[in-house]
Parts: sequence; C-alpha cells; structure tokens
Amino acid sequence: MSAVRANPKPAAPAASPACDFDLVIVGAGFGGLYMLHRARQRGLKVRLFEAAGGVGGTWWWNRYPGARVDIESFEYSFAFDDALQQEWQWSERYAAQPELLRYLNHVADRFGLRPDMQFDTRVNAARFDEAAGVWDLEVGDGQRVRTRYCAMATGLLSAPHKPPIPGLDTFKGEQYQTSYWPHHEVDFTGKRVAVIGTGSSAIQSIPVIARQAKHLTVFQRTPNFSIPLRNCPMDREIEKRIKADYKKWREMEFNSFGGFISVNYEPYGFNPKAALEVSAQERRAEYERRWASGGLCFYLAFTDLLFNREANETLAEFVREKIRERVKDPAVAELLVPQGYPILTKRLCADTGYYETFNRDNVTLVSIKDTPIEKITPTGIVVAGREYPVDAIVFATGFDAVTGALNKIDIRGRGGAALKDQWRNGPRTSVGIMSAGFPNLFFVNGPGSPAAFFQPVLLAEYQGDWILDCIGYLDRNGKRTIEATESAAEEFVKHSAEIAGSTLFGLSNNWYMGANIPGKTRVMLMYLGGFPAYRDQCVAAAANGYGKFVLDGTAAGQAVAA
Ligand code: NAP
Repeated sequence: MSAVRANPKPAAPAASPACDFDLVIVGAGFGGLYMLHRARQRGLKVRLFEAAGGVGGTWWWNRYPGARVDIESFEYSFAFDDALQQEWQWSERYAAQPELLRYLNHVADRFGLRPDMQFDTRVNAARFDEAAGVWDLEVGDGQRVRTRYCAMATGLLSAPHKPPIPGLDTFKGEQYQTSYWPHHEVDFTGKRVAVIGTGSSAIQSIPVIARQAKHLTVFQRTPNFSIPLRNCPMDREIEKRIKADYKKWREMEFNSFGGFISVNYEPYGFNPKAALEVSAQERRAEYERRWASGGLCFYLAFTDLLFNREANETLAEFVREKIRERVKDPAVAELLVPQGYPILTKRLCADTGYYETFNRDNVTLVSIKDTPIEKITPTGIVVAGREYPVDAIVFATGFDAVTGALNKIDIRGRGGAALKDQWRNGPRTSVGIMSAGFPNLFFVNGPGSPAAFFQPVLLAEYQGDWILDCIGYLDRNGKRTIEATESAAEEFVKHSAEIAGSTLFGLSNNWYMGANIPGKTRVMLMYLGGFPAYRDQCVAAAANGYGKFVLDGTAAGQAVAA
C-alpha cells in the first residue's frame, strides 16, 4: 500500500524502440498527477497530456456554485507523502472546489511536475503499432507521439451528458452545464433560472443559485436521497489529532471496503451488524447518530443495506421521514421523497440546505417524472403544455460515466480493433487495469476497478504503483509488451458480475450501470467486492511473473528475474 511503503528504486528502462516517451499519461487529475510523479522518480521519460488549461481534472471542470467534495478533506487527499500531508492545511471539513484546485496545483508545483505536462492538448486517438510494439498517439492539432506505455487517467465522471431536448438550440437565454462551468463569475441576480436534474451536482448548486436568482425552477425526473453534509470550518484540534496519527488512519482506509472512515469528527466506520438482526430501537439509534454526523457514512451503517430490500427499506424510510420534516409544503415534500428504488443504489447525495431551499418563495419544483420536458423554446421550457419562462438554464444532467471519456478517444489495439467495439456489451478488463488485445495500455480509476466504491485518490495511488511496478518488471526482464488474456478478463468480469448480481444495484437507474445514458448497455461498470478483495485480485494477477498476462505475445510466468 502506497501510504506505508518506501519509495521504490528507479527501474532501468529497456532501450526504447524509436519512441518519444516511455510512458504517456492522459489526464491531470489526482490519478494522472500521482502517476507522473512516481514515473519520474523511477527514471521513466514521461509526458502527461491534458485537454484542460491546467491541472485538476474533475476539479478543473466542475466549478459550479456550491461544488465541494463529500468525502472528508483529510481523506480525499494524497496519502503517499507525509510531508505533504503535514504541511497542507484544509480550511473546511469538506473542501470546496477552489481549495481542491489550489491543493492540486500545490502538488504539481511541490513535486515539480509542470515541465512534463502539456495542457490544452486533447488525446484524440491511440493506435497500437503491432510491428514496433508501441503506441502511436494523435494529440492536439495533429501532433504525433510514440510511447511504449500509455496510462489513461481520464476520469470516471468526465464525459458530460447533455440530453438532446428538442428546441435546445433555439433558446435565446444563457445556458450552463455544471461540468463545463465558465471560469468567469456567473451572476444570476434578477434572473429566472432553471436547473434540470437533481443529482449530486444539482443538489449542491440549487441552494446557492436560489439565494441569488429572482426565481429558480427545478425540473426533477427522479428524486434523490440526500443526507445533510454538515460541513464546517476545520477544527484545529481535530487536525492535530489526525496529523499525529495520519499513518494509522491511512492504513485503516486502505484496509477498509470503501476507503473512507470519517476520520475527522467521529470515526463512523463500518458497522459489522446487519440492520435486520438488531432491534428497531438500535437501528434507529444508529441512523440518528449517522444523520447527526452527516455525509456518506450511511453506506457503512449496516452490512445488509445493499443486499436485502427489507433492510434497505428501513434506511429509506428513515430518510424519507427526515425529508418530510425538512420541507414545509407536504405536497412538495411528497414530490421530493424518493420512492420505488433502494436507497444507496443511486449515489447518495450530501447537501447543505437542499430540501429547505424548496421552502423559499422564489423556488418552484416541477416533476417531469410522468411528463418529460416536451421542448425548449427561445424563452423557456415546456412541460405538459405549459411554458416556464426562464432567462438561464443550468444542465446538471450527469455524465456518460466510467467508459465515456475513454470512448471519446479512438483507441485501437491489435488488428486495429476499436476498444469501444470490444466494450459494446460492457467493459471487459483484467483487474480493471488492462483489456485483452490492447498491450501496454493501462487504466487508472477505470472500468472494472472499484472506482466510485473506493476513495478514488487512494485507488489511483494503488493502481499507479501497480502499473509502475509492472513496467519496472518488464524493463528488468527485457520484455516489451504485456497484455491481458481474454480468459483472465472473462474470469474477472464473471467474478465482478456475480458480486454485483447479489446486490440491489440492479433495481435503480444509476450511472454505475450506465442506466442514465439512453442506449448504453446496462451492466455494472465497477468492482463491488471492496478494496481489500480487489487488492488481492491485483496481487494474484501480478504473481508468478504476471502469470495472468501475456508478455511479448507469449504466456507469462516463465523464469524471469523477480
Ligand atoms: P447525476 O447524479 O447523474 O444526475 C443527473 C441528473 O440529471 C439526474 O437527476 C437525472 O435524472 C437528470 N437527467 C438526466 N437526463 C435527463 C433528462 N433527459 N431529462 C431530465 N432530467 C435528466 O449527475 P451529477 O449530479 O453530475 O453527479 C454525478 C456523480 O458525480 C455523483 O453521483 C457523484 O458521484 C459525483 N458528484 C459528487 C459530488 C460531491 O458531492 N462531491 C458533486 C457532484 C457530483 P434521473 O435520475 O432520472 O436519471
């Protein structure tokens, strides 16, 4: 685990066959930055390409009002360097987007990463040159780059989804998308604003927009379950306590199912009891404690919540009751109360005054569950034959998650096969890191990994180390290519599907299964077995000289130096 491991010795790279780089990394979010830093330490010639104008990934793009992380700042940060952990001072329990961006820029500067990063440069295509055993990339405006290895740290939620609502282009007012928020300040003062969508991004931005706009109309298709975030300024005593014991906290995170344990206030970690095995009183007490603590700790409240509908319903009913208490108008409350799908199976939201916003006189909720938006006109939004006149529309309509960003790149492996064709019926990876037929191509926080179910910063560290260890092994052994086998991918996909099939996730239209994107194959896109089990899979895959992979086109595992 990266947090407790000494820096590995630099590997001696094998001679590069007419390559510009040993490793190209795509994406300058948490995953890309970590990998760049470690690759440089190992002596690799590396270049990172980023479509945005700066570092940050998610936190570069998502600048909408109210954007902040909903995993505690102390946890949602790099673990690999204790000096960095000690020197950085978080100002809030849950950092807001500007602070996260400052932090990532600090990391880039502190470790001198900028000389190896190229911004405003999208990677458009990646083709594997079989004869040379290298990747040929087309980047930016036609620049060609050849690299031995390529790591896609392109992000889980980085391909925005904007539904093609009829008339969209005729709208004469302002249009915004939460995930493409402009860098200049947007002032809604005196304006009639519409927000379409009620996922995490909407739930964070709606209270802020409502305070500024003349009138806000929220168009809701599916109500979400949301828990109070209970953000607050960082308590310096708590900071001291955590920093004194950071190593221990990080070890606990790395050995936990989801990688977060709420270190900051009270550690409301994993409860080993099942909801249905305890009394109604004990259950209620557990829910009330977690409600008071706030945030995502409900995922860890009882072991059966994601597996048993009856158990799940105990939590769903608890939260429904709380929503009804927060909203004054009972008719509006009923529209906001989620029904018909298990709580936690659509990503739980964490809010600051979301439900109370609907108590304001300048806010209207329009349910589009049974009557979808008919069209957008030059002046407004039409639902059930009625036009809601607006000056600005905010699309908080989510992402083509997990595979979307990869599919935007024309990735072609052996025989010119396209990755998106290979994944048409769902992504197929070996341990979420490699795909058969695509040698030397790695994914960070990608499909098949526990991303979204494990703290993504820590997962990026683990996977970054795994990938660089793998490259180091190949270099030490004079090997030029590694690729997943179809049988290993099949085994891993089957194992993941079995776990997913035992959960309640199939009972809601969630982005974890691609169910938010019309026409996308409905299949669980990530590993649900928890990080410790995932780590075991990764260790097993690397055992016996990467025995579950093919090296230099032949089965691995022959006698080579460890
Ligand atoms: P999202 O959760 O997918 O929400 C998208 C919203 O748009 C949903 O309410 C969806 O309705 C609605 N929508 C989509 N297409 C529509 C259409 N054609 N007509 C009407 N409504 C439509 O996306 P998100 O809010 O951007 O969040 C995505 C994920 O990013 C989160 O789940 C979370 O993991 C992460 N995130 C985290 C934070 C944080 O707190 N740190 C903040 C933002 C995002 P349906 O539900 O009916 O599909």
